[in-house]
Amino acid sequence: MVHVNVGSINSETMKALNLKIVFDYIRRHEPTSRRDIAEYGGLTVASVSKITGKLIEKGLVVETGEGQSVGGRKPAMLGINANCRYAVGIDLTAEYIKLVITNFKAQVIYELHSDTQLERGKEYVLHRLCTLILQSIEESGIDKEKLIGIGLVSAGPCDHEKGSMQSPPNFPGWDNVKIRDYIQENTGFPTFFDKDAVAAVMAEYWFGVASECNSVFACLINQSGFGGGLIANGQIFRGYNDGACEIGHTIIDVHGAKCACGNYGCLETLVNGSLIVKEVTDKLKLGNRSVLSQLDNYDKITLAAILQAVKNGDPLCRSVIDKTADYISAGIQNVATIYSPEIIVLSGNMLWNCDYLIQTVISKVQKRKGNKFIKSMTVVGGTFGENQCALGGVALVLENFYKEISIEE
Ligand SMILES: [Zn+2]
Repeated sequence: MVHVNVGSINSETMKALNLKIVFDYIRRHEPTSRRDIAEYGGLTVASVSKITGKLIEKGLVVETGEGQSVGGRKPAMLGINANCRYAVGIDLTAEYIKLVITNFKAQVIYELHSDTQLERGKEYVLHRLCTLILQSIEESGIDKEKLIGIGLVSAGPCDHEKGSMQSPPNFPGWDNVKIRDYIQENTGFPTFFDKDAVAAVMAEYWFGVASECNSVFACLINQSGFGGGLIANGQIFRGYNDGACEIGHTIIDVHGAKCACGNYGCLETLVNGSLIVKEVTDKLKLGNRSVLSQLDNYDKITLAAILQAVKNGDPLCRSVIDKTADYISAGIQNVATIYSPEIIVLSGNMLWNCDYLIQTVISKVQKRKGNKFIKSMTVVGGTFGENQCALGGVALVLENFYKEISIEE
């Protein structure tokens, strides 16, 4: 049975919660019966029937046939009506835009990867983003009437309530950019906005490895930044001013290098793509042997080349990555000590092509000393690779859609 901390929630929240429990169970366990949903959610079969009746009436859920009888009539089985609605998810990074269009089961039916072209300025990027969205919707061939919204995510800091970007370090000059309203006004579709690390954890909670967990932390380890997102008791934990979970700016070495945030020795100064490239380059210049030793110009070595060498077992590149893994595992231990999540998911573009780094982090975390809660915590690689944050955008759309249905009568 699902356990939810109800506290002092009001009846509308309760309705939204029950609807989410029913909907989520159908999504994750279809085909399923009303009786199974009731048992899982701690609800009566009558209240489940009321909710599923509403979902069927709206065409969101369909009866898919008969299940096995457990005595008496065979139960009618329920499933999600995959093509009843669509959502757009977008991950806007300083380097690239990743856009996905999914059906109501969050299955990707169209995707696009494009350069952000940040150097051309904010107005250009925003205008082009709208053009790409509208073109993608057109090319996907979906019925626009069934598109329930756009979930846009980008680098923090942000004000998610106002839908604005608040000077992310990698977006120079993007101060107080009301990006949600801009996209909504220029595309004509309801738009939702949040920061990328929140999206990373939502994608896992809604569609990925953490779908049965109430307490989830996602690390978003990108080449140029290290963010975090937390779901506690099934809800996003934001802290004051959207400032929670900035794991990249937890201080690991008070005498360390200066961080973009102004402090010294933040985790992000120790875990980033530029540092890995610098350390490998320095070692090569000192005459250490590596598959990269044969290159003519050590100053042009890329992170991609290093990660490929890591994949091929190059000891020098692996030793640098091992050090990165030490710092990530220390960061994870700190997160575990403060929040004690059930599962920590490792996502972000530094990890997509480096399973070695993920596995090394996992083994280092397991070897760390800690209390029994940390020992029983699961650490895994993310599920969705490049689509992680864009699918988090889809989750933002679905979350809002659920809320809207639940308050309609
Ligand atoms: Zn910092």
